[in-house]
Amino acid sequence: MSHAKLVEVALPIPLRKQFSYLCPDHIELPVIGSRVSIPFGSRQLIGMVTGHLDSADINTSKFKSITASLDQQAIQPLSIRKMLNWASDYYVYSLGEIFQQALPVLLRKGESSSLTPPLVWRITEFGQDFDLIKLARAKKQLEAFELIKQRQQLTTEKLRQHDISSATQKTLLQKELIEQVALDLPPACHWNEQHLNKDDRHTLNKEQAVCVAAINHSDQFQVSLLLGITGSGKTEVYLQAIERVISQGKQALILVPEIGLTPQTLQRFQQRFNVPIVFLHSALNDKERLEGWLKAQSGQAAIIIGTRSAIFTPMIAPGIIIVDEEHDSSFKQQDTFRYSARDLAVVRAHLEKIPLVLGSATPSLETLQNAKSGKYQLLNLTKRAANASEASHQIIDIKGITLKSGMSPQLLALIKHHLERGNQVMLFLNRRGYAPALLCHECGWLGECQRCDAHYTVHQRYQYIQCHHCGSQHPLPRQCPDCGSTQLVTAGVGTEQLEVTLNELFPDYKTVRIDRDSTRRKGALNASIAGINNNDFQILIGTQMLAKGHHFPNVTLVALLDVDGALFSADFRANEKLAQLYLQVAGRAGRASKPGQVVLQSHHPEHQLLQRLSKEGYLPFTEAALAERKAAQLPPFWHMGLIRIESHSNEHIQLFINELNRHSGPLLVQLSSKETPVRQIGPMPAPMERRAGRFRWQVIFESSKRSQLHRFLLALSDQLAKTKSNRHVRWSLDVDPIDMV
Ligand code: ADP
Ligand code: ZN
Ligand code: ZN
Repeated sequence: MSHAKLVEVALPIPLRKQFSYLCPDHIELPVIGSRVSIPFGSRQLIGMVTGHLDSADINTSKFKSITASLDQQAIQPLSIRKMLNWASDYYVYSLGEIFQQALPVLLRKGESSSLTPPLVWRITEFGQDFDLIKLARAKKQLEAFELIKQRQQLTTEKLRQHDISSATQKTLLQKELIEQVALDLPPACHWNEQHLNKDDRHTLNKEQAVCVAAINHSDQFQVSLLLGITGSGKTEVYLQAIERVISQGKQALILVPEIGLTPQTLQRFQQRFNVPIVFLHSALNDKERLEGWLKAQSGQAAIIIGTRSAIFTPMIAPGIIIVDEEHDSSFKQQDTFRYSARDLAVVRAHLEKIPLVLGSATPSLETLQNAKSGKYQLLNLTKRAANASEASHQIIDIKGITLKSGMSPQLLALIKHHLERGNQVMLFLNRRGYAPALLCHECGWLGECQRCDAHYTVHQRYQYIQCHHCGSQHPLPRQCPDCGSTQLVTAGVGTEQLEVTLNELFPDYKTVRIDRDSTRRKGALNASIAGINNNDFQILIGTQMLAKGHHFPNVTLVALLDVDGALFSADFRANEKLAQLYLQVAGRAGRASKPGQVVLQSHHPEHQLLQRLSKEGYLPFTEAALAERKAAQLPPFWHMGLIRIESHSNEHIQLFINELNRHSGPLLVQLSSKETPVRQIGPMPAPMERRAGRFRWQVIFESSKRSQLHRFLLALSDQLAKTKSNRHVRWSLDVDPIDMV
């Protein structure tokens, strides 16, 4: 009996199991980690080979055969495959789907995984001796020919830049005057000390020097928390740590928040390093994304900068990983595969045996606790680098005060004061649109979304109302749908209204608004930022989009208009998020030679959190917050898994919940221990009980011991996957959830 070859394949389907396929004789046995095309039901899927099976005792006649083997070698290095396997267990998510998400779209679809070398035009041997008189009447051809001859080799792109069409190129090709050849790729990781540009490098201050030395101390796995106030020169520390990596001919991966990926960021790296840099931003098309990925994988790129999903970029010679603004919520994916890129970075650095730097002025309580417990090395930058002074802080009591579009007379006076001195002011309000509600003055009717438990937001400028939870949109009503009155009024203030009012009050100054509405157009955000730097605008209005990372030296007043919601929120992370926003925002004030002022309006000026933030800063806040979390048995001391259940029918949700309870009960008994119990909270309706027409429920499972919680979550998920009622609901598990809405 001949030995049939069997392979195990992870498929991009929701089931957490792998499938076996036969490898027919005419196909060479695909290696582990390579892609294969296989039949699945009526479909053809692309899966990842995860193992080879010994078929000696197996009846193989029932197995289907793989259709094609797509890669000669594993498409990802072993470290990444191990990380993905880890993630599949940790997040209780299908390995095959994780493999897919970790690949660029074109590779998911089966595109070749080898980097195509660049093609160039050059003069043929025949062309070398060609008498140019013969081209005298074909001006364009002559021009192209001479250009190529002079430069020796030119890409099609370069020729196009010289206005030479592909028709001209084709004619010269047909005349056998030019030919196209593939260039050899440069050897992998061909950079060293000589590729550093040390001209505009800062001399490190003492604190920075200590940090760089501590990071560079070891080439082994080590996590450092770089805790540095805004403007303390964290980026300079990153750059100098990367210098060492480049000198050694290795690669660096830098993760930045979604908004942080600006041309300025790229520029700073390009100025310092004379090496190929891959910039993975949202405007790339699939082809460019694939090319960047392949360059990193093959060692053609030295530095890779990208947002969340860049954590999956393979490197041939990894040297360091840096996560900037590690507390930023954009590092956590909020749907399907709900991973945290920051946490995966820890796993990856461990597997690659390289240093990881987590940088922030306002680190997450999770990361701080890891630093306090000694798991991470804590590095401190306590002073602003470019001798900017620290801002002064003030809380304005707005109890009983009449506000103008959310602004107190005291704040308006301050704005005037700063503007008259030729400075810029920055106002924050985390609510876009004109007003968060529309109501009828006569009968009290309130514009509510039909599909969500939410009010419509009024967008005055384009005359529509919109639900910010499901996106549904209607023209702005002229009359009350209930009583027909035309006295419709708005309630509350959004950024759009703020802008209108400030334009009226300060006609001599120009405003710019930065929120999701004003930046929807491609390039709009960058244009606004350039305008701010150019002092075209003096009044800057925005949601927290404006808070992140930008360096505006002329801003001297920063104001937060409405933070009271966060003081009494049901979300246990609300105070942490407010503290982070407050300090990030405060970091925008007075970065250059001008001293800054930070003001906050509140109905509760005496509130301990606000007092602490404005007087003592972030670290004292975290001391208190960590103590509270510990007492309340919340993360980072306890660990959480959140199951969300959604359906158009509440009945179906209840059926699923009954089954969930039936399974979770015995499992809780079975998998809990006295010392480290697993607890169930709920099921209960989600804070927003209906969204986009679906009812929403949730259940929380928690334990002080992670391994205990995970055994439980794995067992429960496997049972839930088999239930009948799961077909009529959408359910998902979120491990370490950060958003409970
Ligand atoms: P962070 O990333 O911590 O907000 P940056 O790295 O952007 O801070 O530095 C803030 C400012 O200080 C920048 O303008 C930077 O060029 C400058 N800077 C950083 N390090 C030094 C230094 N050692 N000497 C002088 N200026 C510095
Ligand atoms: Zn009415
Ligand atoms: Zn809605």
